[in-house]
Amino acid sequence: MNLRSATIAELRAHLDQRKLSAVELTDYYFERIDRHEPTINAYVTQLRETARSAAVKADKIIAAGQATALTGIPIAEKDLFCIEGTKTTSGSKMLADFEAPYTATVSEKLANAGAVTLGKTNMDEFAMGSSNESSYFGPVKNPWDTSRVPGGSSGGSAAAVAAGLCVASTGTDTGGSIRQPAALCGLTGLKPTYGRVSRWGMIAFASSLDQAGPMTRSAKDAAIMLEHMAGFDPRDSTCLTEAVPRYSQHLDQPIKGLRIGVCEAFFETALDATVATQIREALSILESLGATLIDVSLPHMTASLGAYYVIAPAECSANLARFDGIRYGYRCEDPQNLQDLYTRSRGEGFGQEVKKRILVGTFALSAGYYDAFYGRAQKVRRLIKQDFVEAFSQVDVIAGPTTPTPAFGLGEKAKNSVDMYLQDVFTIAASLAGVPAMSIPAGLVSGLPIGLQLIGNYLDEATLLNVAHQFQQTTDWHTLTAPEAP
Ligand code: GLN
Repeated sequence: MNLRSATIAELRAHLDQRKLSAVELTDYYFERIDRHEPTINAYVTQLRETARSAAVKADKIIAAGQATALTGIPIAEKDLFCIEGTKTTSGSKMLADFEAPYTATVSEKLANAGAVTLGKTNMDEFAMGSSNESSYFGPVKNPWDTSRVPGGSSGGSAAAVAAGLCVASTGTDTGGSIRQPAALCGLTGLKPTYGRVSRWGMIAFASSLDQAGPMTRSAKDAAIMLEHMAGFDPRDSTCLTEAVPRYSQHLDQPIKGLRIGVCEAFFETALDATVATQIREALSILESLGATLIDVSLPHMTASLGAYYVIAPAECSANLARFDGIRYGYRCEDPQNLQDLYTRSRGEGFGQEVKKRILVGTFALSAGYYDAFYGRAQKVRRLIKQDFVEAFSQVDVIAGPTTPTPAFGLGEKAKNSVDMYLQDVFTIAASLAGVPAMSIPAGLVSGLPIGLQLIGNYLDEATLLNVAHQFQQTTDWHTLTAPEAP
């Protein structure tokens, strides 16, 4: 087995057969981190000591024959999951020194399953961005081409897996932040149904949209991760109570007869022609596996970007109000008075993109404008949701592109917000509707990975993972690894 590209499922067998110990595996990854991290910058914090003791503990559990699917598996966590006693920055100067006093449900569940957390990954500040360039801790480089972005906001989580600096990672997706970086780094990334995974202990961006999910090297690994991350949590009132299926047990079902919806509108917008050809090719592979392609229309899809960029900033302006230098966050030096303390702490603590969104969001929520902007955006959101309800009365899954283009150059879109926002033109609708969606590797364009997006009905992650796994049984795009960074 090649450790560099090994999946969770493959490592499990090796660990259980004692061909490798969890401690050796952890050391292997930290050696790679030493070598490649100076170029990639995927981690904000490395957790060498706690990782080592978790690995020692994992080896004992394995020796006792009590391993779960994740015991001893080295993972990384996006730096907005609170882990007690660990720096949790959300990519911001505002929280650069924040040490979490408690642990997020997702992180607790993964740790309880025996996963070994190697570190916390770099991300766009407060998860706002599509390139990881808004991080206070500097941009992350795409391992496939280090002059390009890994996508965002879970860019560090994506680059860490793609560069072989961990096996799998956690990300969060508010409008595309798991799927878009997964597509740009050649990974499998899944945003579950809103409420499937607890948000407790996740630093909030836009609460009605935020959802955590796995970023992995295969659909099978995503299934394994999700079954450990998902489930009801009484500490999150938006968390769903439905039982978590054993996703990894439903992967082998043939997809013959499955109805896959194709929305032609996805191909009529800013989609790069070569990406379009690859996506059509991927669709015909699904057809050759026995699925039927059916035209569906999502008539309000074109309004999704506009609605999102009212709703997400509005919610972020409320969520980020707590970072005032008193209750939470960075405090400026030598404040002259209370007003000065507030304005300078927030002015100095937040970066450009975050400030822009707080301003837009506060405006959209202000008296006299609320109905015109926020109220209207919510109505559009309802129409988008109805589009999906209608589409899923005819099909089981909707398939199309994840992003308009492969990874773009560092700095290329930094000056033009709208260009950057357009990265999520295909992913945002599923976020607004709250339906699950994933991205799987579907080809290379000029040597760079691109993603096929699969969108599912509410709580039907099992079908998405099944389709993704079947696709990966006949294609090898997901097995390709990025060239070794210098
Ligand atoms: N790129 C989108 C944004 O900037 C989505 C971010 C996300 O999903 N966290 O808001």
